[in-house]
Amino acid sequence: MLDDNGHAKLAKLIDGKAISRAVRSEVAEETQRWTQDGHRPPYLAVVLVGDDPASASYVRGKARACGEAGINSDTITRDTSIAQDELIGLISDLNDDDGVDGILVQLPLPDHVDDDAVIRAIAPEKDVDGFHPASAGALMIGQPGFVSATPAGIVELLERSEIETRGKHAVIIGRSNIVGKPLANLLLRRGIDCTVTVCHSRTQDLPGIARQADTLVAAIGRAGFVTADMVKPGAAVIDVGINRVDDSSRERGYRLVGDVDFDGVSQVAGYITPVPGGVGPMTIAMLLRNTLDAARSRAQVALAD
Ligand code: NDP
Repeated sequence: MLDDNGHAKLAKLIDGKAISRAVRSEVAEETQRWTQDGHRPPYLAVVLVGDDPASASYVRGKARACGEAGINSDTITRDTSIAQDELIGLISDLNDDDGVDGILVQLPLPDHVDDDAVIRAIAPEKDVDGFHPASAGALMIGQPGFVSATPAGIVELLERSEIETRGKHAVIIGRSNIVGKPLANLLLRRGIDCTVTVCHSRTQDLPGIARQADTLVAAIGRAGFVTADMVKPGAAVIDVGINRVDDSSRERGYRLVGDVDFDGVSQVAGYITPVPGGVGPMTIAMLLRNTLDAARSRAQVALAD
């Protein structure tokens, strides 16, 4: 992109770390007011099956963030060999436990367990991940319900960076149930008002469609997939991807990169999210927001009963 004097101008960085800190401190303040009003702290139950190090690390991050926001949480760990029925029984107990406001089952689950069946077992009013079909359906028809944290975090990034969405063309690359599809529904909502195109592996002329985007979201899982020639000058580029690429200069032997060729796209885009430090931190912040909302709406329902 060129500035008024014809000089190359780099895209403005959307600082997901700073924005997520702001959201987390707002949630912490609201949680404090909630408990000062005489309510017990919100409570999140996290279910972790197996010993996948990445899952364990995500769960630790979520538990730490809960603690910092004044939200109570426990991680319930189960062995990889747990039977599906037993896991669903555990969810059912958590559903029945009045002290539990939110339930999060860390995915992926072992191969012998049907993720969908386990997610369906979560009571929709405790579905803080927003993956239950009732939450997905409510989002689609614009009714109240939990919105999954990554898409909600993306919209928060756009809003807090004052990126215009109304009437703008958003192109999402990726149609997964956890990112692409819910994000498409969210961006279509009244008030956000994007015109939305969703691309996937069968899309024809994907670069041509991507170039029409005012907001381009990459949720593919392929390092550096989105290159500068796929981006309209001045567009906002949101990189959801988290990919490991070999890097012998790092102690752990790899580094994390997104789905966007950051250096190239920065020369063309108006706004860009880094990886790490863009969408990732927002996911945890929005989970905290959903957990507080769950506690509030459950308390309201209890009052009405
Ligand atoms: P999925 O694998 O479920 O979906 C990937 C999507 O990308 C699919 O719709 C697939 O199309 C599409 N795709 C794959 N290859 C191509 C291609 N060559 N051209 C066009 N489309 C393609 O991934 P997720 O949505 O779960 O995650 C996407 C990325 O985002 C991953 O890197 C993941 O780690 C990351 N992620 C990050 C989060 C965060 O907090 N920052 C949260 C969630 C995910 P098709 O449907 O046709 O197969």
